[in-house]
Amino acid sequence: MDNIVIFGAPGSGKGTYSAALVDRFGYDHISTGDVLRAEIKAGTELGKIADGYIKKGQLIPDDLIIDMLASVYDTMRDGPGVIFDGFPRTIVQAKALKEMLHKRGEKISVTLNLIVSEDVLMERLLKRAEIEGRADDNETTIKKRFNVYYTQTHPLIEWFKKEGVLSEFTFKGDKDLMIKEIIEKVESI
Ligand code: AMP
Repeated sequence: MDNIVIFGAPGSGKGTYSAALVDRFGYDHISTGDVLRAEIKAGTELGKIADGYIKKGQLIPDDLIIDMLASVYDTMRDGPGVIFDGFPRTIVQAKALKEMLHKRGEKISVTLNLIVSEDVLMERLLKRAEIEGRADDNETTIKKRFNVYYTQTHPLIEWFKKEGVLSEFTFKGDKDLMIKEIIEKVESI
């Protein structure tokens, strides 16, 4: 099966491009952010812990995310593939993903790195705040999330490169063109 990592800063369009890939290839989609927001809504133990971190724009501790991810992944093994959206976000998570897949005879097929300028990211997130009312889409928290992204998550690009799975896509103002390029890449794996 295909194991696709969709990667990029907050607001880079990971959800949008994941939806296009789900549509085209019938993949399952794991968004760790969506799973955590559902846990918060359901009032679970994990949700209670996650809530505090998300509101502050910080990452949830690696061990909590890794356990959750493996159990969700195991419900999706009969399909054509899985898109990992919002995971991994740290080197520890990336290594855990590699090991989790390896144990199941699988590997990362490709990482799609979405490159978008910071002005566009901020503009999109503020717009999303108006529409979706996410607790962490306000200017102060967005800035913290960018900071977390650049310090903890962005260094993963080198790791993906070393693993030989990195593929980069720069947004040039045309979403449909991005979708076309991404689909072409996934068709070629
Ligand atoms: P997202 O919807 O992917 O932007 O995630 C929203 C928030 O959920 C993040 O700012 C983190 O607090 C938390 N989160 C989502 N995925 C992860 C992850 N892989 N590791 C740690 N925290 C995460």
